[in-house]
Amino acid sequence: MSRLCEGSRVAVLGAGLAGLAAATQLKSDGFDVTVFEARNRAGGRVWSEAVTSAARDEPCIIERGAEFVLNGYTTMRRLMDLTGLSLVDTEMSYYVRQLSDTPDITTDDIVGAGRTAAEIARTFDHPPSAEAVLRRLDVDGRLVDALRGRIEISTAVAADQVSAKTLEHIASFEPLPSWRVGGGNQRLPVALANRLGNAVRYKERVRAVREMSDGLAVDSTGQSEIFDAVIVALPLAMIRESSNVSLPLPDWKWTALERVLQGDAAKLHLPLLSVPSSSAVMSTNDRFWTWTAADDSGAITPVLNSFMGSPAALDRGSGEHGDFEAWIARARSIRPDLQFSDDAAVTTIWRNDPLARGAYSAFAPGGGTKDADVLEMPVGNIFFAGEYADPDFTGLMEGALRSGERAADRLRRAARNIAHEVRSAP
Ligand SMILES: Cc1cc2nc3c(=O)[nH]c(=O)nc-3n(C[C@H](O)[C@H](O)[C@H](O)COP(=O)(O)OP(=O)(O)OC[C@H]3O[C@@H](n4cnc5c(N)ncnc54)[C@H](O)[C@@H]3O)c2cc1C
Repeated sequence: MSRLCEGSRVAVLGAGLAGLAAATQLKSDGFDVTVFEARNRAGGRVWSEAVTSAARDEPCIIERGAEFVLNGYTTMRRLMDLTGLSLVDTEMSYYVRQLSDTPDITTDDIVGAGRTAAEIARTFDHPPSAEAVLRRLDVDGRLVDALRGRIEISTAVAADQVSAKTLEHIASFEPLPSWRVGGGNQRLPVALANRLGNAVRYKERVRAVREMSDGLAVDSTGQSEIFDAVIVALPLAMIRESSNVSLPLPDWKWTALERVLQGDAAKLHLPLLSVPSSSAVMSTNDRFWTWTAADDSGAITPVLNSFMGSPAALDRGSGEHGDFEAWIARARSIRPDLQFSDDAAVTTIWRNDPLARGAYSAFAPGGGTKDADVLEMPVGNIFFAGEYADPDFTGLMEGALRSGERAADRLRRAARNIAHEVRSAP
C-alpha cells in the first residue's frame, strides 16, 4: 500500500454529487485529483433537461432525477454559495399531497397521522420497519393505506422492508417548503465539475481497481493508471455488480453493501397547454404522485411532473411493452384540472439506466449510523462515498454531498497521520 501525503494522487470514481464534493474538498487540500466519469456529463442522478411547452416562450427545465431540495440541506446550500447558485421556492410542499383515490381524506388528516407515525418511530431505540409503525396507528384503514403508499413512493422500496427512520426526512409529512436550484439542479454538479477543470475526465468508465506494489491501478476505458488512493463514489447497484466494476474488497464490506436496500423509481413529464397553479396530487393505489411547481421565472412551469416509486409499482406500471403508457393515462386522468398538450411525454426509468441500475437506497430496519460507518470505512487506501452511505439523508442529494466530504476528510486525516508518524519516528 503506498503511503499517503499531501499532494498524493487520488482517483475519484464517479462525477455525481458525492464524487464532486469529495474531489472539491481534496483539491482545496492540495491533493492531485482525477475524477473518472463514465457519462459525458456531470451529475449522475441529478439530470436537468429543457423541454418546450406551447404555454411559454422559454424552455422549461425538468428534473429527470433528483428534484427537491429539502429541509436541512446545509451542505448543499454551502456548496451553492461557493458556486454562486441560488435556490428557488417551488411554491408547493414536497411533503404534502392531496389524495386522488380517497378525496374525502384531507391533507390535514395525512399530516396529522404522519406526525403521529413519526412520533411512534422515535420511541424505538432501534427503529423497526415503517410497516410495523403503521400497524400501531389507531386511525382509519384508508389513511394507513395512504401513509403506506406515501412511504413506498418516497423511499422507493416496500414499507415492510424499510426502516421507520425514513419518516424523518424522505417520507416526512411536515408541511415544510421545498426548493430547487434556479435553472435546474444539475447546475450544481456542473459548476463543481467546472471548478475542477481538466481533473474531470468524461466517458471514462472504470472497469477495475487493482492492488499493485506501488499503489492502486485504476483500469478505465482503454488505459490503466496508478494512484495512491481511490474514492469510490459510484451508485450502490454499480458497486455490487462485479460485471460493471471489479473492486478488491473484503467480505465484511460486501456484507455491508448487500444489507442496503436498492430503491426503484421513475419519472414522467407531460407538457401542458396553459400555466397551472401549484399542486401536489398522489395516487395511493398506483404508487405515484404528480405536481406542478414554480421555477426561477417566478411562474408555475407548464409541465406536469410525476414520480412513481417502489419495485412492485414499477413492475405493475411498466406495462406489456415497458412503455408506461398506463401511467401516462392515469396521470392525465387524476389531473382533470390540467390541459395536456400532444407533445411527447418524457419518461425516465432509472432501473434501466446502465450507470445507475436503480433510483436510490434506503436502510432496512435496524440500519442507520452503524451501517453507514461500515459502508464508509476505507479498505486500505480505497475510500467510499455515496447517497447510500449517509445515515441521516440516505438516498438524497444532501446525503451524497455529506458522504463525499466525509470521504475526503478521512483521506486527508489518513495522510496527516502518516505524515505525523513519519515525522515522529525515532
Ligand atoms: C427519480 C429520482 C428522484 C430523486 N429525487 C430526489 C429529490 O427530490 N431530492 C433529493 O435530495 N434527492 C433525490 N434523488 C436522489 C439523488 O439523485 C441521489 O441521492 C444523488 O444524486 C446521488 O449522488 P451520488 O453521487 O451518490 O451518485 P450518482 O449521482 O449516481 O453519481 C455516481 C456517478 O458514477 C458514474 N458511474 C457509474 N459507474 C461508473 C463507472 N464504472 N466508471 C465511472 N463512472 C461511473 C455515474 O455515471 C454517476 O455519474 C432522486 C433520485 C432519483 C433517481
